[in-house]
This record gives sequence, structure tokens and C-alpha cells, in this order.
Amino acid sequence: MINKEGWLTNAEKHISPNFDQRPKNSEIKLIVIHNISLPPENFEPDNVKKFFKNELDFESHEFFQEIRGLKVSSHFLIDRSGKIYQFVSVYDRAWHAGISSFNDQENCNDFSLGIELIGSDNTPFEDNQYVSLEGLIEILCNSFPGIRKENIVGHSEIAAGRKTDPGPFFDWSKIR
Ligand SMILES: [Zn+2]
Repeated sequence: MINKEGWLTNAEKHISPNFDQRPKNSEIKLIVIHNISLPPENFEPDNVKKFFKNELDFESHEFFQEIRGLKVSSHFLIDRSGKIYQFVSVYDRAWHAGISSFNDQENCNDFSLGIELIGSDNTPFEDNQYVSLEGLIEILCNSFPGIRKENIVGHSEIAAGRKTDPGPFFDWSKIR
């Protein structure tokens, strides 16, 4: 269930400062699925949680130089056990899609919800992640009727040539 402030009641709440208001009258109609691991291929969620809260120590790993100072977020994160974390209210605009377009409409952050799965382009996702994702999508679709089946996409579909996630191991048949 989503409460009236826009938080999923069974998610662990971690408030990210990386959000702002959606444009007035923008209907939420798109779900964007991502993968993330920090550093790449490390499937512990802690660094991602810190990254979304601007608390990641960029000195703690060489790779983090590449993402130093970036301010990003996602509405939801699902770890390898299927646990769900939420960083931004669904009514606010999280910063997950970047330069993007869907059906000729640009800036997908304006009208989308972002869901990150801990994982990579090189590894299958866990069954528990699909179970949680499916349940989350059902709740979101019930809350926002503008999200039709064909409006659940991968980051690579709205930022082609720039992004590859959720990657070749993401099994769309498990959620469609
Ligand atoms: Zn992504």
C-alpha cells in the first residue's frame, strides 16, 4: 500500500535529498527499471543506499571516482533478497532517468517512477527480486492507472545508446 504522502508502507524508508517537484499536472504513467551495483558487481546494497543519500565516501573505492559528486536517486531499490527500500515519495520527482524520452516525451523523470534492482548486466537476477518487483508493480499500477502494461520499460529503452540497464539477464516474462 502507498500512504497518502507517497511512501510504500512495507518498504524501508531512507529519505534522499535528491528529488524535486514534478511539473504541475504531470500524470505518473511510466515505470523505469534499472540495475545498479557499487562498485560494479558488488551486490551488497549499502553503497547504493549511501549514494542515493549523498553519503557515499568517494575515496573508499577507485571506481567511485567515476561517480564522484553525482546526485541521483530512485524511488525504489530492491536488494538481492527482495527487500524493498524507498528514497523518494512517489509524488515527487526522483533523479534516475537522466536524458531520456518515451513516446516522444522527453525528461522521463517528470512522469515516471524509478525502480533499481541490485544487480548488473552480467548476472541473472534473484527470484526474490522478481517476486518483490511484481508485487510493487501491481501496487503502483493500482495507484496510478496511467501506467499501462506497455509503460513498464527498461532504462535502456528510454535512454538508448547511453544506458544498457537492466541488461540482457533481466527476464521480462517474469513481470509481464
Ligand atoms: Zn539506469
